[in-house]
Amino acid sequence: MSQEKKRFCTECGAELNGGSKFCTKCGAKVGGKVVESEREESYTVSQTSSSNQINIPESYKPISMWGYFGYELLFSIPCVGFILLLVFAFGGTQNVNLKNFARSYFCIYILFLIILGILMLFGILGASAYYYNL
Ligand SMILES: [Zn+2]
Repeated sequence: MSQEKKRFCTECGAELNGGSKFCTKCGAKVGGKVVESEREESYTVSQTSSSNQINIPESYKPISMWGYFGYELLFSIPCVGFILLLVFAFGGTQNVNLKNFARSYFCIYILFLIILGILMLFGILGASAYYYNL
């Protein structure tokens, strides 16, 4: 390398001159652990590129906000939605997020049915009580 490498303090990032062993800015010892600008650059580049192309397996791919919205609409379709819900909840999809979402939605369905059942029961009891007291 003919090009002169710039050195930076590992503590504060200030540029260091030639052979100084201490940072002029923060006073930290910079002996052997000096980061060369070239290496630092390549490091940050590789870091950003790797964070841009994180390879999440298909089964763990996050669902977007509109994805959730779409599935919610889909699940609220009478009969067809419920069948799709069961399919997704019990292994119809490889995606963990979708599976869990379908399962939680399924729980809401069950809860709703229980509440509906209780309300109907009270309705019948109330109606019959009203009828016999009349
Ligand atoms: Zn420093």
